[in-house]
Amino acid sequence: MVSYRELVKKVVPGAARWSQVALLSIAMTVPAHAADYAGALFDAHLHFNQEAWDGQTGPHPPSDVLARMQRNGVRAIVANSRPNDGTHWLANSAQTRQAGVTVVPFIRLYRNRADYNSWFRDESIFAMVQAEYAKGTANGPFRGVGEFHLYDSANANGVVAKKLMAFAEAKKLAVLAHVDDVAIDLLMANTPSGGQQTRLIWAHTGIGGSSLARVDALLAKYPLLMGELSYRPGLTCTDAAQQERLCPEWRALLLKYPQRFLIGSDTWVNQRWLYYDALMQGYRGWLGELPPEVAHAIAWGNGARLFELAPPTPP
Ligand SMILES: [Zn+2]
Repeated sequence: MVSYRELVKKVVPGAARWSQVALLSIAMTVPAHAADYAGALFDAHLHFNQEAWDGQTGPHPPSDVLARMQRNGVRAIVANSRPNDGTHWLANSAQTRQAGVTVVPFIRLYRNRADYNSWFRDESIFAMVQAEYAKGTANGPFRGVGEFHLYDSANANGVVAKKLMAFAEAKKLAVLAHVDDVAIDLLMANTPSGGQQTRLIWAHTGIGGSSLARVDALLAKYPLLMGELSYRPGLTCTDAAQQERLCPEWRALLLKYPQRFLIGSDTWVNQRWLYYDALMQGYRGWLGELPPEVAHAIAWGNGARLFELAPPTPP
């Protein structure tokens, strides 16, 4: 049996989802699913890396990535790119403003792939972060640092990791960290406030599948900790009609902490740009299963609050 959502997608392609009200009579004959979330999106985990566009050539030049954001209703992004040139370009360009996309620039720690495995002890990276912060972008200051990775949580106690966390808190910079739940505690302990005033965005909310009990406990312990949901294992389940739905335990956690989650694309390789439409459509699908005010908070409001963004102007 075709689901209501599939039916709507087939009959109402693209953005004209609100006209699905007209399909209500048809919907009475198929299982009732909520409508997709149709409001603005804040992509809180976006990379515009060198292999996408090196400043002159590449498969995904600015016009391409901005068109993808625009047609998906993405009205703000956390931009962090390897190297930082991609972020400077997006932050500074008139094309970005014309596309109606607000850029929240983050300082990436990596100049190249090798830096992934040594940044936490590499003083030259801390110097680079400080220099980038002092310089800012031509369109305003940096608002965060990261994404950084810790494949061994013990490296959260590396000399540069410690300095970076203290620096971020002192400058009120958010931190985008791809780490496990053990490293969250270690990173928080390395800040002056012990994590009570640390604006840490947990990339993927634990890509290794930290238990929901641990996620819950960390959110309760650190008031400014946010969970970004790309690649999160166990977030969605396939139902009997082969639809991707929120898994019940995740639905309960999102409802318990509606102010603490963000969505993101994580365009870490070019393939993710190819699937950008599907990724955003996937978010719109499960967001539509939530109460409208919770969907709006996770889709847009939480990121907008975190970075004090004005409401998006109509597209
Ligand atoms: Zn990433």
